[in-house]
Amino acid sequence: MKRLFFVFPILVLFSCQQKTADTKTDATENKSDAHSFSEPHKAIVKHLDLDIKVDFTSQLISGKASWLIENLAKSEEIVFDTRQLQIQKITLGDDETETTFSLAENVKILGQALKVKINDSTKKVNIYYTTSKDAAAVQWLNPQQTAGKKHPFLFTQSQAILARTWIPCQDSPGIRFTYNAKVTVPAELLALMSAENPQAKNAAGVYEFKQPNPIPSYLMALAVGDIEFKPIDSRTGVYAEPVTIQKASYEFADMGKMVTAAENIYGPYKWGRYDVLVLPPSFPFGGMENPMLTFATPTVIAGDRSLVSLIAHELAHSWSGNLVTNATWNDFWLNEGFTVYFERRIIEAVYGKDEAKMQEVLGFQDLNATLEDFGKESPDTRLKADFNDRDPDEGVSDIAYEKGFSFLRTIENEVGREKLDAFLKNYFNSHAFQSVTTEEFLADLDKNLIKGDKQLRDKLKIDEWIYQPGLPSNSPAVSSVNFTTVDSLISTWKKTGKTSDLNISKRSTNVLLYLIRHLPEDISISQMTAIDKEFGFTSSGNSEIQAAWYTLAIRKKYTPAYPSIEKFLTDVGRRKFLSPLYKEMIKTSEGKQWAKNIYQKARPNYHSVSYNSIDELLK
Ligand SMILES: [Zn+2]
Repeated sequence: MKRLFFVFPILVLFSCQQKTADTKTDATENKSDAHSFSEPHKAIVKHLDLDIKVDFTSQLISGKASWLIENLAKSEEIVFDTRQLQIQKITLGDDETETTFSLAENVKILGQALKVKINDSTKKVNIYYTTSKDAAAVQWLNPQQTAGKKHPFLFTQSQAILARTWIPCQDSPGIRFTYNAKVTVPAELLALMSAENPQAKNAAGVYEFKQPNPIPSYLMALAVGDIEFKPIDSRTGVYAEPVTIQKASYEFADMGKMVTAAENIYGPYKWGRYDVLVLPPSFPFGGMENPMLTFATPTVIAGDRSLVSLIAHELAHSWSGNLVTNATWNDFWLNEGFTVYFERRIIEAVYGKDEAKMQEVLGFQDLNATLEDFGKESPDTRLKADFNDRDPDEGVSDIAYEKGFSFLRTIENEVGREKLDAFLKNYFNSHAFQSVTTEEFLADLDKNLIKGDKQLRDKLKIDEWIYQPGLPSNSPAVSSVNFTTVDSLISTWKKTGKTSDLNISKRSTNVLLYLIRHLPEDISISQMTAIDKEFGFTSSGNSEIQAAWYTLAIRKKYTPAYPSIEKFLTDVGRRKFLSPLYKEMIKTSEGKQWAKNIYQKARPNYHSVSYNSIDELLK
């Protein structure tokens, strides 16, 4: 996923510490997942047959989840995670013998454990259920909230622990299963999942899906809407609403090249097709790496292909994350740190070193801002995290992404790219379709890369990187020639005050972002007016530029940008942009009132992932 920014310490009342098991490996001891009620070492799911109906009138999903299971410990019960689900009945086997079940007390964030009575020979558990109207994973959009304005739309966001709000499941990243699904939707709409997908609507509105590779529950995904498909090449393509499809397929024209570039680095893409679905603007993230079908925000459609690094990021997850998965949310850096590293390698291969370097510098600035924000001694700045008493979604930050990236870059600098690539290629292959803890990764690193070289081990400062807060002293220096040029232009402009001295010839997104970030704190309104006239930041169609400029505009009370800020906050639901803007607004009392007024109108357009964060900010 790309990308979340800040932490709220939400304390919840629970003390469960269950073990999860991966039957593919022997290393089951260290995989306790505090965010799941399931007890997979006793009875574990292996395959799901899902048969559901999506009803836009009642805004409910209902149907049957049939789980093939293995009763490893000859247990008398199997435990599933649920949250706000109505369970009608549960049967066992193909002959559907009704069995008894109980729903445990509701625990904040985690929901309710569903305990189903089974016997030694139980192979199949059929759960008949309905979601609730406010299922946190699901966002129901009315036609007005879509790009086309004619049809309703639905999408899900299951990461981190929201799959349990629309499917009863063992909701832990350490547990994998294959799935088939049959989804019934209104006839004029198309349904898509994280699976082999249809490319056109059918008259009946009934769609069948197959995911033959075992995936964890957080990668379960569904989207339903007036959606069209346009191929890019033989194995990549774009889905979007009809009014967006042309722009989207232009923007993502390099997808095929990216898949090939990725394969050249870490070996074959193992999922078959790679398609992207462009969602309506309320999607809370930049992208979500749902297997075979990345869900993406329309805010990356800048018109000039300048924000496609997001696609490189989600594609990279096909290796780091989807193929080799963090075993618990405390190991989340294994998903995101590796993905940011791989993303920049793909960018370097497709768009060149300069581009990758600029992203690295901007990422390092984000990391430093986060370290500043949390405090360098904060335990939340360790790579191996402890989110056990919190919602893992809110506990995610730049630490997993950018500190994780810096750690891999440090290894690359020490051992050379060739050796690191050989190690990572082997790591992805030998752990394919498995979930891994930080400690298992470190054991692999010791065995296959460090190989007993004590000097190398000391140089890498592994324990500091993983288990200590802040940034170790061997963290690599980063720089970009392009940015050094911008620095010198800014310093001339500071002396002369002439906007014409900011004569940036190649106005790429990264260069402009860097410029906005490095404008002086004491910039005057007249200087901002002149810069805005020259660069058109207020009216930019580029969401990254808008977010950076609007943050400065709020801080400096640059009122000409206010109407655009209001429109941006009302139209866009991507939390990465919303959080810093609202945070900046609430620094003054008049700003806080302004924020509340906008939020009142905007909140219905946000997914729960976003409005939960903003509710917390504005309360
Ligand atoms: Zn990601």
